[in-house]
Amino acid sequence: MEEVDLLKKLISINTINSDNGEKIKEIIKDYFGLKLAKVDFEEFEFEGIKNFVFSFGKGEKCFAFHGHYDVVPVEREKWDTDPFEPVEKDGYIYGRGAADMKGGVASLIVAFANLSKNKEVVDKCKVILMVTGDEEQTGLKGMKPTLDKIVKKFNIIRSLDTEPTSTNKGCDTIKNGRRGVFWLETIITGVPGHASSPSKFKNPIDGAYLVIENLRNYKLTDKPDMDKTTIVPTMVHSDGGAYNVVPTTAKIKIDMRYNYGTDPVLFMKNIETLLMKNGFGVEFKHAPIDAAFKNTDPKYEKQLVEIVKDVIGFIPSLETTGGTSDARFFTSLGIPSLEIGPRGYSNNIHGNNERVAIEDIVNTRKIAELAVIKWVEEL
Ligand SMILES: [Zn+2]
Repeated sequence: MEEVDLLKKLISINTINSDNGEKIKEIIKDYFGLKLAKVDFEEFEFEGIKNFVFSFGKGEKCFAFHGHYDVVPVEREKWDTDPFEPVEKDGYIYGRGAADMKGGVASLIVAFANLSKNKEVVDKCKVILMVTGDEEQTGLKGMKPTLDKIVKKFNIIRSLDTEPTSTNKGCDTIKNGRRGVFWLETIITGVPGHASSPSKFKNPIDGAYLVIENLRNYKLTDKPDMDKTTIVPTMVHSDGGAYNVVPTTAKIKIDMRYNYGTDPVLFMKNIETLLMKNGFGVEFKHAPIDAAFKNTDPKYEKQLVEIVKDVIGFIPSLETTGGTSDARFFTSLGIPSLEIGPRGYSNNIHGNNERVAIEDIVNTRKIAELAVIKWVEEL
């Protein structure tokens, strides 16, 4: 099976931190060399990270497939097999990136090649396949600048990402958006002193308590068509050096996943006001905000639901849960974007003995092909 052969080749290249992009390119080019009469190719490099864009077609409107080739690090000693030596067993392929997301990339490569032989598709539209790095980090050396480079050249009307979105069966879940991610560190300053007389000083841990109480009761302004905001304190720390010392500072780290109706900056300002009102000093550190995003084309959504139903036999669910993805760079340019692919968490993405079901990548390939074919029928 072509998807499986390709996936095995992709897994055998260690692409932690987007390393070895060159070898990924060679695998794809070799495959297209055998399969395709004509495919255009462009390469973009940002601070050492390589990104690839393949394209074909004569039409004006463009459908974009996209996926990332980079993978997260491994704890080799916890794997049963070498994470970079693919193993096929009981209908699954094991290896780092099998599900997240070299499986989905293999599906797209085969779909792209098959579509390039479809005369109606070639005549009526363009199809591009973007395979980029840096997704597991910021995407700022991967999809974002690559898309910025090509967006004027290709009139992208729809985009499809084959991240491992699914839960119980391959392709049972379409992501039609993602909540935003906001990582906030709040540094609270008080007045240190001897713990035997707490009223003479100002304990920043009391401030931390106020913050935690506040976030439990924070009034969200979520919109109903996206999963609810979650605000989770994940690290609490003080610089107190002994049992009997009221510390100078306390820090709380918060993981906030926000619905597009709730403003994370307003949430931060609310914490600031609360602490200052209660006599604490406050300072924030935060990572760049990954904005919440939502697909903007309901017709595309409806069509993809129908396609998936035909391929897997039941209606997929539409969700916005999970971490963020490269799809946000498309929606931020106003390009409709949906994601569908193999099962993820149940196949240990980012964990040990990551695997993907062969059935899942075959279904993902079929769905990707049909997404273009059905769209072209209406052009
Ligand atoms: Zn991924």
